[in-house]
Amino acid sequence: MTIEVSHRVLRVKPSPTLAVTARAAKLKAEGKDIIGLGAGEPDFDTPAHIAEAGIAAIRGGFTRYTNVDGIPELKDAIIAKFQRDNGLTYARNQVLVSAGAKHTIFNLMMALLNPGDEVVIPAPYWVSYPDMALLADAVPVFIPAGASQGYKITPAQLEAALTPKSRLFILNSPSNPTGAAYTRRELEALGAVLARHPRVVIGTDDMYEHIWWGPEPFCSLVTACPALYDRTVTINGVSKSYAMTGWRIGYCGGPAGLITAMGTIQGQSTSNPTSISQKAAAVALSGDQGCVASMNRAFKERHDFIVAGLNSLRGVSCQPGFGTFYAFADVSQAMANLGLRDDNAFAERLITDALVAVVPGSGFGAPGHMRLSFACSMATLEKALERLRKFLG
Ligand code: GLU
Repeated sequence: MTIEVSHRVLRVKPSPTLAVTARAAKLKAEGKDIIGLGAGEPDFDTPAHIAEAGIAAIRGGFTRYTNVDGIPELKDAIIAKFQRDNGLTYARNQVLVSAGAKHTIFNLMMALLNPGDEVVIPAPYWVSYPDMALLADAVPVFIPAGASQGYKITPAQLEAALTPKSRLFILNSPSNPTGAAYTRRELEALGAVLARHPRVVIGTDDMYEHIWWGPEPFCSLVTACPALYDRTVTINGVSKSYAMTGWRIGYCGGPAGLITAMGTIQGQSTSNPTSISQKAAAVALSGDQGCVASMNRAFKERHDFIVAGLNSLRGVSCQPGFGTFYAFADVSQAMANLGLRDDNAFAERLITDALVAVVPGSGFGAPGHMRLSFACSMATLEKALERLRKFLG
């Protein structure tokens, strides 16, 4: 018997990043020597002092339900973090802790959007934004920003995309998948456009804030544009900065009413984020930040290596990024050289023939590209490049 599923779920597809990761894991389990550059997660272990806080929480019996919106100790660490790193002031009722920033963004869309509302998303985008908008009955609207404009939208493009139906604008800087990041000046210019559209709420996904080597310090949108404070949700998490992907802790600061509504969605779906993870996240945010800097140095070294390596391959070109652990390469020429019709076919050939797993650019709204995660050892990257070189000729 086939059970008919909801119209809602038929609107969306499985996450392409997770699909590639699962596929690579399956092939590895079957004995294939796959190099997985799909998953976007640090290869480092969670720093010991953070892990110990989680272990201490278990030993201390901190294993029951907590407040749905997060324990006060973690909220205070988040409030201090926003003040310290971003110059942003939030009160406890303006902070929500969730099971990863993905969950934060989902809560935001579910709490904010009505049928027909438009969610304005610069492309390339992280794979889940459009599908989450669809799950919330809204309409994703894309602003294309290709390699020729450094994968960044212009204020004129933003102005042209905003309509009376626009309800949410999502900004992710530095960007997953491109690593492109907006300067403070560029954020101010985008903010000037948003100031003219008071119905638009802004969600800034700052997940890669600390994986950063831009020419000027990282700047969050609302830090550059304080006038937008009352309608901006600043989203972050501990997964990437502290190598804590599996702990599932994301958080945000924003307008109290909207944060309360997001908490209501969370309270009727997942309840509190994991109690022990919250204890560990509090230590991550308020403890010694040396681990963040040392992981960042490793990511920068790998970035420089992989970007140079990709640009030396036949038919491949890749712009350097300002942060994240992704390289986003234009492979349209390589596809043409091989007679392959699209980047899905290209990624398929890479995994079957070169034994390298990457995420096709189409999933990010950028056909003709591939995303490689360089959150792996230099030796792995060297091996992957060797295989790509052999495959591409
Ligand atoms: N954000 C990461 C990535 O893009 C994790 C996987 C996901 O949830 O998409 O690879």
